[in-house]
Amino acid sequence: MRDRQIYDLARIPTMQRHDLIVIGAGPGGYVAALRAAQLGLDTASVDEHDRLGGTCLRVGCIPSKALLESSHLYEQARRSLQPHGIEAGDVQLDLGRMLARKDRVVEQLTGGIDGLYRKHGVTRYRGRARFTAPRKLVVERDGRAVEELEAGHVLVATGSRPATLKGVEPDGDRIGTSTEALAWPEVPRMLAVIGAGYIGLELGTVWRRLGAEVTVLEYLDRILPGTDGEIAREARKLFEKQGLKFRLESRVTSASVRKNRCRIELEGGEAVEADRVLIAVGRVPHTEGLDLGAAGVEHNERGFIEVDEAFRTSAEGVYAIGDCIGGPLLAHKAEEEGIACIERIATGWGHVDYAAIPSVVYTHPEIAAVGPTEEELKERGVAYRKGRFPFRANGRAFTLGETDGLIKVLADKTTDRLLAVHILGPRAGDIIAEAAAAIAYGASSEDLARTCHAHPTLSEALKEAALAVDERALHV
Ligand code: FAD
Ligand code: NAD
Repeated sequence: MRDRQIYDLARIPTMQRHDLIVIGAGPGGYVAALRAAQLGLDTASVDEHDRLGGTCLRVGCIPSKALLESSHLYEQARRSLQPHGIEAGDVQLDLGRMLARKDRVVEQLTGGIDGLYRKHGVTRYRGRARFTAPRKLVVERDGRAVEELEAGHVLVATGSRPATLKGVEPDGDRIGTSTEALAWPEVPRMLAVIGAGYIGLELGTVWRRLGAEVTVLEYLDRILPGTDGEIAREARKLFEKQGLKFRLESRVTSASVRKNRCRIELEGGEAVEADRVLIAVGRVPHTEGLDLGAAGVEHNERGFIEVDEAFRTSAEGVYAIGDCIGGPLLAHKAEEEGIACIERIATGWGHVDYAAIPSVVYTHPEIAAVGPTEEELKERGVAYRKGRFPFRANGRAFTLGETDGLIKVLADKTTDRLLAVHILGPRAGDIIAEAAAAIAYGASSEDLARTCHAHPTLSEALKEAALAVDERALHV
């Protein structure tokens, strides 16, 4: 280890010292850096990309939601306006402009983080960080060490990258991951998506709306593993009506490309042909090249960094948060962990309420949840009561012309404490915020049912589902 330090020092002149160095400027890392600066720590942030914001802002949440919005508008303009008495004429797709708009959104938001760093006085280093000792790092660009850094605390927030599938190699063109699928230059006639999880459904939906014939290959017997079973079954029916094709219980074994045509082989099943393949089979921690060993940071067999409740790793002064420690791989979970970790360092206090972390799939309709699924409650032997309310009985959903879906409220059978809310329906991602706040404050389903909800809003369906827990919903 000593040798390595001497070797690096030979190429770089000075050692920069900070109270805190955050490695990775995704939603976990950059928010942690801002909070640390707010709390008075001399904070540095290292990221290998020119654009700040990590996976989420560059090639994840933001560009995918920009395309989901644009493709939804395109589909609405083509199919949903007539009943409103609006004739849009011959609606044309300009994919180049749609992609350029998405790029502008990314540019503006990533540039915004630069501004926030300047405002809060966070020092920024560009390059790949590599540990040389527990709290010492070199920053490398093009394989050359350009800075040496030392800090009282180091926070690893290096996120995740797409998982690969044996036999299905991304080829930089026809076979790609979400990163490539956010920028394909033309609409594939036939698209094969491997994996019916978040990315498969969101990006599969984007390209279906833009005109592709999309087949989703999923090796389980259901879509969206981890989502409440009833909600996932209902969602699948709606997605099938929209034209997504599902081949469940289909394990992909290999994919090959010949003359721009892809052939995907399935275990024991008929092969699938497509113009493009999207690999969406999960994500793995992004820790390669960090030399965690030099810092003495341990990880589990899947590569996720192991931490305790204060986000401390096995190396003193080194912490980790966000996708690289596992759990739900979500931007807002990474942010919460980043803030809690920094507050623990600076003040001794800080925690994440994991029972109240919402998740949202931004399809149409959206799917949102907070708390355990019914299957998980049964497995844990928790006695619960359930209230359901369909959007077809909600006035606002009627005015929107979006009556598909339902809200399900699960509450403890004895205490009535709110345990979970699962939503399939219009703007589910916005409605779930109220449920997350209610769970965080330890509310009962009765509390939700007695809260006045504005009329006519979609959130009245949540109130009704809460009333339904006590079998007294009014509008069904
Ligand atoms: P990341 O955002 O992955 O950031 C880590 C950063 O560290 C990266 O910039 C990386 O390049 C950098 N880095 C890694 N190693 C080093 C190193 N050695 N030196 C310097 N820099 C390094 N989540 C949601 O909540 N909502 C969504 O709608 C959503 N949509 C998504 C859509 C897609 C297509 C994808 C792929 C993901 C989506 N996610 C979404 C997940 C979300 O992007 C991640 O959960 C989130 O980005 C994790 O944040 P993080 O800070 O842990 O890591
Ligand atoms: P995922 O874990 O959501 O889904 C992967 C799917 O691939 C699973 O259904 C799995 O059974 C299937 N699969 C695995 N191996 C397979 C094989 N050989 N053949 C066929 N199917 C196979 O993963 P993802 O969709 O890649 O997304 C990665 C993560 O990124 C998500 O878990 C989520 O945390 C995050 N994300 C979140 C959002 C959001 O919050 N809206 C959007 C996109 C991504």
